[in-house]
Amino acid sequence: MKSVLRIEDLKVYYKTEKGLVRAVDGVSIDLCERESLGIVGESGCGKTTMGYALLRILPSNAVLEGSIKLNGLDLSSLDQKQMEKVRGAKISMIFQDPMTSLNPVMKVRDHFIETIQTHKPEISEEEAERMTANMLRAVGIEPTRMNEYPFQFSGGMRQRVMIALSLVLNPVVVIADEPTTSLDVIVQAQILDLLKSLREKFNMSLILITHDLGVVAELADRVGVMYAGHLVEIGESRDIYYSPKHPYTEALLKSIPNTNIEDKELVYIPGGPPDLADPPKGCRFEPRCPKAMPICSRKEPGVYQVGRSFVKCWLYGEESHVSASKGQ
Ligand code: SF4
Repeated sequence: MKSVLRIEDLKVYYKTEKGLVRAVDGVSIDLCERESLGIVGESGCGKTTMGYALLRILPSNAVLEGSIKLNGLDLSSLDQKQMEKVRGAKISMIFQDPMTSLNPVMKVRDHFIETIQTHKPEISEEEAERMTANMLRAVGIEPTRMNEYPFQFSGGMRQRVMIALSLVLNPVVVIADEPTTSLDVIVQAQILDLLKSLREKFNMSLILITHDLGVVAELADRVGVMYAGHLVEIGESRDIYYSPKHPYTEALLKSIPNTNIEDKELVYIPGGPPDLADPPKGCRFEPRCPKAMPICSRKEPGVYQVGRSFVKCWLYGEESHVSASKGQ
């Protein structure tokens, strides 16, 4: 399949009083046409920072390195003015909390008209309104509701509005950052179904950022697991779920509560993620890893191909080596 987004050796460091915080540190990913990629990991692992880096909406104390190529266009080299033309039109984001992303004093219709005409000033208001009606219909909202304000919608309906807004210009890549976190389980399932059907209808590629492995299982073709700014494993969803290779992925899967097994103790990963202002010299998971070996604390592992997956772990040091940072 053709690659649409190529992220190479992406680094995002935040300048803080403590020094540089290495939030994303050498992540490489290829996203294919119409592919759905889940990015999972604990809070603070760098997944949302990576999403923001792809849209170039990082705070001013962030330093970005590496390359982000969207159909050959290097987003990392664009200035903010050039990026404004790309953001929303070619790559867009569905944010965690729709209430804070929508302007409460603007009607839903006006959000759409503004987005459409900012990117395509040649489109008339009537045409933009027609596009809005079509998009709202596609996400299951009666078009007449475009004249209402965001607070008149329920949480699930607001998220549908956000999804419609992120798709109205037919972007190539959509990043959904914890799109169901603030929703109850029934609405969550409806939103996941909606994303699944829209991905097919609009031929888009989707990056789904979440801490919830259940959400990813519903939607993703491939899953990337992040830990402390590193992409530690990436592979096809079924391989990640049924045959995880990295000790962190294994631990993450074991820590999902399973109510079907009686008396099963809830497994947790002892310790906490490292301080990214002063990360361990070797493998960042080493202080918590039950399989750690002497080399793990001394030297950062490379990325190795294991079956169809790519794993950043010394356990596979003899497998075919990819690079110190690369994960396909
Ligand atoms: Fe564990 Fe070593 Fe692999 Fe890190 S490199 S996950 S410490 S075995």
